[in-house]
Amino acid sequence: MDLNLESTVRLNNGVDMPRLGMGVWRSDNATASQSVRWALKHGYKAIDTAKQYGNEAGVGDGLAQGLAENDLNRSDVFLTTKIFNGDAGYESTITAFEDQLARLKTRYIDLVLIHWPVTGKYNETWRALEDLYMAGKIRAIGVSNFDIQRLRDLMKHASIKPVINQMEFNPLEQETDIKDYCDRHNIQLEAWSPLGHGDALNNEQIKQIADKYNKSTAQVIIRWELQRGINTIPKSTHEEFIKENADVYDFALSDEDMELINSLNLDKRSIWYGDFQWSGNPDGVADSVDQWDK
Ligand code: NDP
Repeated sequence: MDLNLESTVRLNNGVDMPRLGMGVWRSDNATASQSVRWALKHGYKAIDTAKQYGNEAGVGDGLAQGLAENDLNRSDVFLTTKIFNGDAGYESTITAFEDQLARLKTRYIDLVLIHWPVTGKYNETWRALEDLYMAGKIRAIGVSNFDIQRLRDLMKHASIKPVINQMEFNPLEQETDIKDYCDRHNIQLEAWSPLGHGDALNNEQIKQIADKYNKSTAQVIIRWELQRGINTIPKSTHEEFIKENADVYDFALSDEDMELINSLNLDKRSIWYGDFQWSGNPDGVADSVDQWDK
């Protein structure tokens, strides 16, 4: 399989998206800024953040500095952010989005996702994203944490189909049904927590495969996701890990090793949302809020 750090997938609206990016969840502004600079230094072409992470300003700073330091243009980097659960709804999404643009210090966002499918509101949030997309402020729109039922409902109401569904995905959680559904509808699956909360990184069978290729378990997992055709956004706050996670293009996993990792699936989400409601917060929407309703 001919893959490299510049490899992209063509989304269903014709936009090309890098297959590998870096996530920044659980990083404060200063850390996120530094991580983004390191990512750009080591050749990453995509960054994934969210209002919920409370670090859009840091990502915006890191992006501006990283572009300058590496002689890159804004169009060289694919930036993803997400609509916060507390902003669900039409007007609230439009207003929140303008603030997100300002924090990220950019005139447009490459990909905006509905972060979680807030019950009774996600179709209105989607309508706002469609309008922002039509206005040219977003290059592609998608969803995150949508199961098949919610994807079906969204598409029944939508004028524009989502390009991406970003789901928890790693060797221990492979979302088989959702992946099949997305494949059938030409919606690209993107993996969140692609390294699997430590459990996958410490898995003995993956370690054995990694030893065989003289790679780390993280590299084998990332390579497995890329070979599965899934976009992936491993997160790290350490330059060595950031570099290591992008060094996955000088080997290819055999069919046998791919199958072995495929067989590790436990279908056990780390978090599930049932009838997902945003509980809100009495002071309105706090930018630093990083929580969800279970
Ligand atoms: P990951 O699966 O990317 O794992 C991150 C953890 O692995 C960190 O503790 C990191 O350490 C460690 N790590 C990274 N690289 C290595 C390595 N090479 N060797 C050993 N350890 C390593 O978890 P995330 O949950 O952060 O998911 C990735 C991204 O997905 C998020 O950052 C976010 O952007 C997105 N996401 C989206 C969600 C959604 O609802 N849409 C939900 C959750 C995540 P350290 O940081 O100390 O370097």
